[in-house]
Amino acid sequence: MNYADIRPIDVANGPGIRVSLFVSGCTHACPGCFNPEAWDFGYGQPFTKDEVDAILTHLAKPYVKGLSLLGGEPFHPSNQAAVLELVKRVREAYPGKDIWCYTGYLYEDLLSGKVGEHSRELLEQLDVLVDGPFVLEQKELSLRFRGSANQRLIDVHASREAGTVVWWNDEM
Ligand code: SF4
Repeated sequence: MNYADIRPIDVANGPGIRVSLFVSGCTHACPGCFNPEAWDFGYGQPFTKDEVDAILTHLAKPYVKGLSLLGGEPFHPSNQAAVLELVKRVREAYPGKDIWCYTGYLYEDLLSGKVGEHSRELLEQLDVLVDGPFVLEQKELSLRFRGSANQRLIDVHASREAGTVVWWNDEM
């Protein structure tokens, strides 16, 4: 897997101060995509052990709330194994920090396992999934942590327990 960017401080893609990883490679081709250069799976730099170590070091800061995964497409079948390995390391090192992931796939399709062999396992490691493609016609600048109204902020743990989609609620 290649990656486009690692941001040690990001306040736009989830609550609080976060570390963000933008992976390379996406096949959704949403019109109006904010990051079309990252559609290319060869864009950016190889994601190696050094990058994993750097992310873990950034996450150690006490003011960092968690990790956000973006793209590109973190759930593309060819990115899943590397992203899964990273989130397992993060869980192990920082069980108190949360993990958000943005995807152009739908939660139901990831849960069913039809999007790559690691999608269910990767989903299980997340706290919040922001799902669905960016839809230009439904773009709303006022939306928090998402670009278009079709996208959902899904509380992964609560959804698994309820057996249906439960929205993330930061008032809870
Ligand atoms: S899923 Fe995200 S990265 Fe991929 S084309 Fe759509 S907006 Fe761009």
